Amino acid sequence: MTRPKRESHSRTIGDQTLHPESLMMGYGYRPELSEGSIKPPLFLTSTFVFETAEEGKAFFELAYGLRKGDPGEEMGLIYSRLNNPNLEILEDRLTIWDGAEAAAVFESGMAAISTTLLSLLTPGDVVLFSEPVYGGTDFLLKHILPRYGIRPVGVLANGGTAAFEAALADHAIRDHLAVIYVETPANPTNALVDIAACAELAQRWSRPNKRVLLAVDNTFLGPLWQHPLRHGADIVLYSATKYIGGHSDLIAGVALGSKAVIEPIKAFRTILGTMASPMTGWMLLRSLETLKLRMTSQMKNARYVADFLADHPKVERVYYLGHLPPDTPEHALYRRQCLAPGSIISFEIVGGEAEAFRFLNNLQLFHLAVSLGGTESLVEHPASMTHSDVDPEERIEMGITENMVRLSIGVEHPEDLIADLKQGLEAV
Ligand SMILES: *Cc1c(COP(=O)(O)O)cnc(C)c1O
Repeated sequence: MTRPKRESHSRTIGDQTLHPESLMMGYGYRPELSEGSIKPPLFLTSTFVFETAEEGKAFFELAYGLRKGDPGEEMGLIYSRLNNPNLEILEDRLTIWDGAEAAAVFESGMAAISTTLLSLLTPGDVVLFSEPVYGGTDFLLKHILPRYGIRPVGVLANGGTAAFEAALADHAIRDHLAVIYVETPANPTNALVDIAACAELAQRWSRPNKRVLLAVDNTFLGPLWQHPLRHGADIVLYSATKYIGGHSDLIAGVALGSKAVIEPIKAFRTILGTMASPMTGWMLLRSLETLKLRMTSQMKNARYVADFLADHPKVERVYYLGHLPPDTPEHALYRRQCLAPGSIISFEIVGGEAEAFRFLNNLQLFHLAVSLGGTESLVEHPASMTHSDVDPEERIEMGITENMVRLSIGVEHPEDLIADLKQGLEAV
C-alpha cells in the first residue's frame, strides 16, 4: 500500500492552512531524494555532477538568465557559490515567516546588508537611513559607500517620520534618493521607525526611471514579532546570527522580498561570493524548528525582567517596548507595527560608567558578551562596547548614555534571571 505523498511545498491539509511553525519541520524538502533521511543531509560539496552536457548547458542558461525557464522548471544544481540543496531548502523555509516570495542567505548579517546595498546603489545615489543603526552598517554607510560615490544621509530614529520628511525637503537629497534604510526597533534604545510611513515616502519620491526601495533590518523583532513586507517594505534584512540561529554558535544573514527584488541581489551574491556555507545552512534549518518556541519563551521572560527593573530603586529608566506609555504616538505605532515587545531591554542604572561596570562584573547567570537573540541571556555596555565607535556627541543624541546597559533575554527560568539582576544591582 502506498500513502498519498505530500508535495514538498504544500502549505495546506484540506482546508487547513498550515502555520509557519508546522512548516519548519519539512517544507521544501523531499526525503525520497535523500535515502528517506528525515532531516536534510549536509551537502558538503563544492560542485554538482551533470548527467549530460546538454543538461549542464540548460542549467547554465537558466542560472545566467540566457533563457526563460519553462513553467515549473527549477534551477539545476551547478556549484555551491550559486546554489546548494541546504541553502535552497533554508531559503524556501525562511520566506514563510515574513510572507516573502524569495530569500537569499549569506554567511553573515553584514554580508546580507553589504551585498544588498551594493547591488541597489550606484554612484550619485543617496541612501537615507535611520540612526542609530548596527555598528557595522553604520561604518558601511558612512565610510565605505562614499568611496563609490554614494551619499549617506542619516536621520535620528527618535525624530519620528518628521525627521525623514525634513531631510527630503532638500532637493539634493530627494532627487538622488535610491534607498531608504531603516533599522527598527533601534539598537540599543528600542526607538521605533514607522515602516509604512517610510514606504509612503519611498513611493512619493520614486521617479519614472528610478523606484526608491525601502530596506528594513528586522533583526530585533523578526521574524516572529514584526513583518515589514506587510507594511510596504521592499526588502527585509536579518542578522541570522541572532534570533534565527538562536544558539550563539553561527554567523549568518538573510535578505527577503519579491522575486524581482531578490534576484539581482542573488546575482551580486554569486559574484561577491557572500553566500552561506552548506554547514551554516544546515544549522539554520535545525534552528528554525524551535524558532517560535525560543522567541516566545524569551519574550515572556523579558516581560518579567522588565517589570522587575522598572520597580527597582537603582534603575533610572527602562527602554522596553512593552512599557511604552498608552496614548502616545510611539504606543500607537507599536500597536500598528509590532506583534510583541521582543526580548531586548536596555536600562539606565543610577550613576555612571563605574556603577554600570560594577553591575556587569557582578552578574553570574547573565554572560557578559555582545550579540543577542541566543538561548542564553547576555548583558553588555553599549557606550563602551557595541557603540564605542559612534561619535560621542552623536551617541548622546541617540540616547546611548554611560549608565546604559543592554540585556538580551534568553530561555532560562525568569526567577533565576531576576535573582541574578537583583544581586547584581545590590552590589553596585
Ligand atoms: C548583529 C547585527 C547585524 C550584523 O550581523 P552579523 O551577523 O554580525 O554580520 C546587523 N544588524 C543588526 C540589527 C544586528 O544586531
